[in-house]
This record gives sequence, C-alpha cells and structure tokens, in this order.
Amino acid sequence: MAYKISDACIACGACADGCPVSAISEGDGKYEIDPEVCIDCGACADTCPVGAPEQA
Ligand code: SF4
Ligand code: SF4
Repeated sequence: MAYKISDACIACGACADGCPVSAISEGDGKYEIDPEVCIDCGACADTCPVGAPEQA
C-alpha cells in the first residue's frame, strides 16, 4: 500500500519536505509519490492544504 497524490495537488511542495523517506518528487504539474518507497505513514496527507494525498 502507498499514498497517491490526486489531481487536486497545487504543487506547493510542502509534502515533499515532510516525507521521512523522500518518496515525493515534483512531477508534471503536480507532485508524485514513488509507491516503492512510500511507507504509508500519512504525514503528507496531514500536511497537504488541499487533501491531495489519498490512501491507494
Ligand atoms: Fe512519504 Fe508518508 Fe506520504 Fe508515503 S505517506 S509519501 S512515506 S509522507
Ligand atoms: Fe501537492 Fe498537497 Fe504535496 Fe502541496 S502538499 S505538493 S498540494 S500533494
């Protein structure tokens, strides 16, 4: 299981700074989570101002 960032992402970058395993990187118009690296901690969902990270 991993979190996934929806199209609601406004590319603010706040989640990437808070990810303990650096699974989040800037993608094409929004940020993306590497599902192989994500440890499902939920920190990005708590940080995001628009609720874009969702549990897949
Ligand atoms: Fe990183 Fe945790 Fe979000 Fe996964 S759930 S991308 S480990 S902050
Ligand atoms: Fe996108 Fe939310 Fe991450 Fe900001 S915190 S880059 S809006 S997923």
